[in-house]
Amino acid sequence: MQNHMKECRNEGVPFLTFPELSELPQFHHAFSTRLGGISQGYLASMNLGFGRGDDEKTVLRNYRIFCHATGFPIGSLVLTAQDHHTNIRRVGREDRGAGILFPKPWQSIDGLITNDKGVTLCVFGADCVPILIVDPISPAIGVCHAGWRGTVGKIAAKTVLSMQREFGSLPQNLQAFIGPSIGPCCFEVDEPVEREFVALKTLQPETLIEEKSNGKYYIDLWETNARILKEAGVLKVTIGGLCTKCHPGLVWSHRASGGKRGGMCGMLMIREEEER
Ligand SMILES: [Zn+2]
Repeated sequence: MQNHMKECRNEGVPFLTFPELSELPQFHHAFSTRLGGISQGYLASMNLGFGRGDDEKTVLRNYRIFCHATGFPIGSLVLTAQDHHTNIRRVGREDRGAGILFPKPWQSIDGLITNDKGVTLCVFGADCVPILIVDPISPAIGVCHAGWRGTVGKIAAKTVLSMQREFGSLPQNLQAFIGPSIGPCCFEVDEPVEREFVALKTLQPETLIEEKSNGKYYIDLWETNARILKEAGVLKVTIGGLCTKCHPGLVWSHRASGGKRGGMCGMLMIREEEER
């Protein structure tokens, strides 16, 4: 799979972007890597995951470093738990700082949407699939965190539906971007998980699953989410193609590290006028 993501760097902090999304001037986005932060040991160095064994102050300091290098005001961030549910939450300017400057006000939220300017939606990952969705016509944005459970639960389609319901977004106007996560080259599962994907009958699951001789299966989470988005009416879906497990020196991978790893964050906001 070709890697469509661009590696950028500012103030010594690497980050990843989608060139096609960077071309839309009203939006600002970036994905962190595992580099450029101050965490030590197996969390070295850009750990943006709270609750992964790092000191909270260190993680907060990493957020400040990353936000400064990428141009996101830290007070604009909105973070949620993202613990493998499929609930979507609409947020606005009043929620800025949630989960970073004050405790998270909500439980079990894996997707966020907004049409307010200057609100940075955060999506986490380290193998799980982070998805960014933008409506350039009637500016609105959404992010969602799709591990295999969220993928099977069609959180990507739920995010699209929420944008339709809350903002009147037309699915055909939306553009979706599938960020760094475990690729079809590396996402190996056992039969119980494979069966969950076989059940996605409308998505031609036989072409998303590759059976191995050892009784294991390889699943294409990227293409599964792309088909879910297309089924929801999104015409333009870009798969970043950067496999986390294949690039353990650049990005965090839960599987490559055996679970001893930090967290990455994808950020997306609608720019405020004066920032253009
Ligand atoms: Zn891989």
